[in-house]
Amino acid sequence: MRGLMMPNDLLISDLLEHAVRSHAQQQIVSRRLDGRIVRHNLHAFAERSRQLARALLDLDVRAGDRIATLAWNTHRHLEAYYAISGIGAIVHTVNPRLFAHQIEYILQHAEDRILLVDNSFITAVEAMLPRLPKVEHVIALSDWEDKPKGERWLCYEGLLNGQSPHFTWPRFDAQTAAALCYTSGTTGQPKGVLYSHSSTLLHAMAACRADAIGLGPESVVMPVVPMFHVCAWGVPYAALMAGARLVLPGAALDGASLSELIENERCDIALGVPTVWMGLLTHLRQQGQRLSSLRRVVIGGSAAPLAMIREFDQVHSAFVMHAWGMTEMSPLGSTNTPTPELLALPAEERYQRQLSQGRAVFGLHMEIFHADGQPLPHDGLAYGHLKVRGPWVLAHYYRQADVPAVQDGWFDTGDIASIDAQGYMRIVDRAKDLIKSGGEWISSIDLENAALGFPGVREACVIGIAHPRWEERPLMLIIAESTPIDIAGLRQYLQNQVARWWLPDAILEVSELPHTATGKLSKLTLREHYADYYRDLTP
Ligand code: ADP
Repeated sequence: MRGLMMPNDLLISDLLEHAVRSHAQQQIVSRRLDGRIVRHNLHAFAERSRQLARALLDLDVRAGDRIATLAWNTHRHLEAYYAISGIGAIVHTVNPRLFAHQIEYILQHAEDRILLVDNSFITAVEAMLPRLPKVEHVIALSDWEDKPKGERWLCYEGLLNGQSPHFTWPRFDAQTAAALCYTSGTTGQPKGVLYSHSSTLLHAMAACRADAIGLGPESVVMPVVPMFHVCAWGVPYAALMAGARLVLPGAALDGASLSELIENERCDIALGVPTVWMGLLTHLRQQGQRLSSLRRVVIGGSAAPLAMIREFDQVHSAFVMHAWGMTEMSPLGSTNTPTPELLALPAEERYQRQLSQGRAVFGLHMEIFHADGQPLPHDGLAYGHLKVRGPWVLAHYYRQADVPAVQDGWFDTGDIASIDAQGYMRIVDRAKDLIKSGGEWISSIDLENAALGFPGVREACVIGIAHPRWEERPLMLIIAESTPIDIAGLRQYLQNQVARWWLPDAILEVSELPHTATGKLSKLTLREHYADYYRDLTP
């Protein structure tokens, strides 16, 4: 027997109109590229989104069309999110930090008809346009005065100007595609993940919950994670759903700009990858400054280091909430929320627990498996392939029928993890970054984390290098905070942190480490660069 409730589809435009009805005066604060802060309440924001929807229809945008954005976290980018999905088209957020050839590939593959471009990326886009025959219009996300000279460029504010702020959003099936995001493609070409209205809204509902990211009308939330990286982890939707104040940092992601914005706007929750927090903490340390409003820092994308968890707590009274997910999962999978039990623990014990990526959020099922396909026990010891399923996990890659995504109902995340009896998951490593030494596994993440606890280590990266005797051995690369690192002292220190056979055969100090377009250590590049480092050692 079927239930007898209204079969209404919930759409992203319903979220926007709900936000206006319930929180019309709530603000969206946005840092423009010129540094100025602009504020719109949700009423004005919705009017601008409706104006954009009308302007896009005037440009003959039709349901299912892809419209790409190359843009920072700003109110205009947010308006594009709502206007494009609202008319049944697809907002395709492109990561401008990718290599030009990857961006070109992505735009060609998605066959975007319109590009919305922040002024910082205009030159790069102009160079690509001759090879993008499907692109019909390019719109500069700018004021009329800042519009680029070329005839091809339309001006965002010019398009909105004169449009009516009233609009009746079309209705369609909630499984309709809403947003498209490509993985960064560290191996092979980038792959597209196509989110639906339904998956986006369910994910936002899950993210808001107090036992997930935890957002409400009292929250002042700053997604430092870019809106071109998995839709800023869903915050642009979750914030409006919860009636939270949204603070968008624009292009200024350095420590000084972030700390100024956090303090001035009294942000209490901020989200981003470890590298960006490293920049913020270094700046604050140098200035001898303490943050006064930040209460929760959500860290994901890569493992949050112990030293970072400790420093946020001890110096800034901010709780680091570790979260885990990926592009294919919209991205939220698990969060390590501050439970009463956790908060009651002595500080150092608590920090250790905070290293876990937490428990699955409601709606997402995760499980660990042995290579032979058998599920592994949840004892906190056994580790294996982490697989997931749920209504915001992808079923297929976009236009890549030949790339298998789901097997036996599970999506394999490519991560190796353990899960304990309480459901806490701990990422051991990415399967491809685990170091295989003499038939045993070494976690590069744990080694990096240990090194970051040594005074003066700013960043640490551990990779497995082919070794004549042990198959692979770890090589550690270190960036020093200011003065050179005492390598012998670091080695001594590591001996007390990890098993002896885990100790890297070599520790090298380097001046910089390569990062991927999403701010992660680019271990692939480093493995290639140092491939022969241990080759000449006598077996
Ligand atoms: P990419 O940067 O490759 O485009 P994602 O952002 O989707 O893609 O990366 C997802 C991967 O990032 C996960 O599979 C996992 O390996 C890693 N990751 C994400 N969050 C965490 C975390 N909290 N701790 C450790 N690793 C994480």
